[in-house]
Amino acid sequence: MKIHEYQGKELFRQYGIPTPPGEAVKTAADAVRAAKSMGLPVVLKAQVHVGGRGKAGGVKVVTKEADVEATAKKILDLVIKDLPVRRLLVTPAANITKEVYLSILIDRGARKAVFIGCSEGGVEIEVTAKESPEKILRLEVPATKLGNGTAADYKDFASKLFSDADQASQAAVIMAKMAKLFVEKDCALVEINPLIVDDKGKVVALDAKVLLDDNALFRHEDLVSMRDMDSEDADELSAKEKGLSFIRLEGSIGCMVNGAGLAMATMDTIKHFGGEPANFLDVGGSSNPKKVVEAFKLILKDPEVKVILINIFGGITRCDDIARGILQSLEEFDVKVPIVVRLIGTNEKEGRALLEGTKLTPATTLEEGATTAAKLGGKA
Ligand code: GDP
Ligand code: MN
Repeated sequence: MKIHEYQGKELFRQYGIPTPPGEAVKTAADAVRAAKSMGLPVVLKAQVHVGGRGKAGGVKVVTKEADVEATAKKILDLVIKDLPVRRLLVTPAANITKEVYLSILIDRGARKAVFIGCSEGGVEIEVTAKESPEKILRLEVPATKLGNGTAADYKDFASKLFSDADQASQAAVIMAKMAKLFVEKDCALVEINPLIVDDKGKVVALDAKVLLDDNALFRHEDLVSMRDMDSEDADELSAKEKGLSFIRLEGSIGCMVNGAGLAMATMDTIKHFGGEPANFLDVGGSSNPKKVVEAFKLILKDPEVKVILINIFGGITRCDDIARGILQSLEEFDVKVPIVVRLIGTNEKEGRALLEGTKLTPATTLEEGATTAAKLGGKA
């Protein structure tokens, strides 16, 4: 789950990571009021779940009180990478003398949390990583040190980012706090870009990007309330409400599978035979024709879908229930794309019998299903 910069900064404050004060507002009038109370100059920052807001005109320094309203209106009218700006962060402008990149995330390959740092921050780190990879520094953090590491553990790394000894020790303290926040709140990423040095020599987090692990949200009630429904994929959210796990992908083969493991195996097999899945969709382990109808609705919404592959391995799930769901869907929706169905396991005979006489393409094995789907328009 993504949260906004202003929410990330609230977490920073909870953990004692220095960050400027600020107020999130929804209207230009409130921006004016907030700016007045802080004193000029202020920075107005679009709160949307994407990076590169600065480049898109979503971050503006305003020096005159008279300009706040117009600038706020302009940013609130922006749509950045398809996301309309609904909120602004109003924050006192800092005088920047240095910008550094610093983040902590999980390196799955190394199976460890790692700090990533770059002494040239502010810009998009992906660009630096491509053009001058030697500038990207990396520090693996042992799991035992994540919650209770001290500044001393990070001093060497921080000194590579800040040549000034005092700034380096401030950064080391910040790193220990970031690691604590990272592990205690079950984050997938805590990123500060830029981490700046202001005109008084103070190291301050000027931006905050925090990603939370969805699977750990159940133990963080305080974080769940930070979810911004407006900014999330509406289809993925409504799928969750209906008990389906749905992730949109780029390909053309719509998938409907029972069980997350089988759904992943199905996507692998599709790719192996030259196709590209349009989605991950796990209808879950229960037998409920209604879920199949909901699943169809989701898949058919995607104009890229050229064929649907249904792969069901019946255990608790009964193939006849799935078949009933398919029939109901064919009645309800005008399905124009071919459908390949593999029904195996509990009540498979009954299920197949129900589907007899329909224009579905049956498949016995997953290989057969995947190759057929790839051929029937799935292949790029
Ligand atoms: P992003 O573009 O979405 O990553 O937004 P950032 O918060 O990182 O801001 C982009 C850039 O705007 C920063 O790298 C800074 O150069 C500049 N900026 C942001 N806040 C301030 C500020 O308070 N003062 C000044 N002078 N520049 C700022
Ligand atoms: Mn940034």
